[in-house]
Order: sequence, then structure tokens, then C-alpha cells
Amino acid sequence: MYPERIYYEPAIVNYELGEILKQKFNQVEWIPIENHNNIPQLRSNSNKEFGKMKRYIIIGVRKTHKYVENHKVSDFLVPYTSSGCSAACLYCYLVCNYNKCSYLRLFVNREQMMKKLLKTAAGASKDLTFEIGSNSDLVLENTITDNLIWTIERFAKQEKGYITFPTKFDMVEPLLSLNHRGRIIFRMSVNPPDIIKKVEFGTSPLKNRIHALNQMCEAGYKIGLLIAPVVLLEDWRTLYGQLIQQLADELSSKAKQGLIIEIIFMTYSYVHRAINSEAFPNAVELYDKSYMTGRGRGKYCYRDELRTEAEQFLRQQIAEKLGESTILYVV
Ligand code: SF4
Repeated sequence: MYPERIYYEPAIVNYELGEILKQKFNQVEWIPIENHNNIPQLRSNSNKEFGKMKRYIIIGVRKTHKYVENHKVSDFLVPYTSSGCSAACLYCYLVCNYNKCSYLRLFVNREQMMKKLLKTAAGASKDLTFEIGSNSDLVLENTITDNLIWTIERFAKQEKGYITFPTKFDMVEPLLSLNHRGRIIFRMSVNPPDIIKKVEFGTSPLKNRIHALNQMCEAGYKIGLLIAPVVLLEDWRTLYGQLIQQLADELSSKAKQGLIIEIIFMTYSYVHRAINSEAFPNAVELYDKSYMTGRGRGKYCYRDELRTEAEQFLRQQIAEKLGESTILYVV
């Protein structure tokens, strides 16, 4: 990605990565800002500008380093080197936090973040797992910053703990030869090709994602699979039945062995609807009154009966076609 414009906090030049990015993107306009969290000229843009703003990059210094306890695949959610994303999935969870300002922000103080990570891992009485990709897509970010390479090389020297991150991208080539020492858990998020095309704008095709997962597994990384989010369009049975069949056909035997699967149903919101209807007026409408119900504070989720039916269907398909795998959770 070569951004159209960069907004930056002047302090970034005090960091190695800040300097690297300044050199790398010296062909575009750099606009100084006071605070990456509040850029009045972008905040005041209309929802229509959402897609255009995704082509900007915001570069700053991360100030919040508070870990949040988590009990799914990790012990802690860690605020890491980026938040936001330059892809535009119609349901993106980041829109709930950042609204139309869910563009990609890069944080240059990676040394500080790594120091805390290493210290926390080393000081724990057991192997902790740190989720570093809950605010962004780090494989995509890595194509701009090389931060995953930088991170894996440093974290893997550690004798304790694991880091993990999910992705919807296939650009894993630079990670394959790294000496990761089994300390990294790479999780690929998948959806049926039709959903990727209609809903997950700017992400990698399913075939490439499966190939990337096989490659990472072959390179000795620990791996996982997310079927996420499950989007229930009218023909969902056909779409998800075919998805699981394609996974069974194209995942390598090594990748399928003991595969851990996470399943997450889509949630949606009033904010998503407002932004998507203006920014992507021709896109598929993900809110379906007969399928969804309110969940408080402008959020929607699938109705219980439908969700139960879909969960049973997915469990049965996985048991039938991906028998060696384990479903870690369904939410
Ligand atoms: S790839 Fe992930 S972070 Fe990026 S827009 Fe899609 S859901 Fe959001």
C-alpha cells in the first residue's frame, strides 16, 4: 500500500521506525497533527469519505499500554503496533471503537511495547499467550512496517510465552524463514468466497488464505483457524457447507491435524449501517430484520433460533469433514 496522504505526530521522528516511514513515503503529503486519536479535519468528514480515508495512514506514538485479560485463545489482549486497518470489511469490529476513523494508525514506539511484552512474559509463573492483533491486521501492517518480522525475531528469543494474531491476508512469505522457535500462533480467518467478495473488501481470496495457512504450518508455526464472522445471508447453508468442504480439500494433512477452530457469529450495529449505506451504497445489506435482533446500545446479533440452527450445522459439517479438528468456542 502506498498511502495517498499521511497524518503524523511530529514526535515520531524520535523513533527508528518513524524515520524509516518518513523515508519510505517521501512522495506524499505529510500533515502534522497534535494527536492521532483526534484529527478534527478527518472527524468532520462525512460517512461518504470512509473509503477514501482508508487510503490515508496516521502515524503516532502509542500512549496506552494497558493489557486486558482475555480467556479465549490468549491470556491478554495487548495494544500493539497498529490500530485500524486499510481494508474495509462491512462488519469490521473496529468501526464500533473508531467509527468512520477506523483507518490505519501506526505506532512507532515498538521498542517500548516489546519491552513490556518481554518483561510480562518472563515475569509470569506460567507460559502466557499474548494476543497482539486484536486492534488491526498485523499481516497487512507488516507489508508497510515489517513489524511482524521485527516482533517475531525478538519475541522468539524468549524462553517463555507465546504471541498470537489473526489475519485475513496471505502475505506470509517474509515470515516463513524466521527462527520463530514455536513461540508464535498464527490464526487465519476464513469465509466463503462469495462473502469475501461481497463483504470483506480489500482482503485476500479464500484460496490464498488457505495456502498461506498451509505454508505457515509447513514452516513450523503453531496455527489456528477462525470461521469468522459467520455471516448469514439467505443461502448460508450452501455457502458454509462449501467453505468447510474447500477447507477439507485444500488444507494440508499436517494443517488439519489437531487444528483448533474458533467460530464467531457476526454482530452488526447502527453505526455500521449508517456508514455502509453512505460509503458503499451498492453493497449487500447485512442487516436483515427477520434474522437479527437488538442487543442493546445500537447493536444487532442473530436471533437465538437461527444462531442455534447455524451452530449445529457448522458443528456437524466440521465433525464430518474436518474430523481431526477441535472447536475451541462458538460465540
Ligand atoms: S481485515 Fe480485519 S481489521 Fe481489516 S477491515 Fe477487515 S475485519 Fe477490520
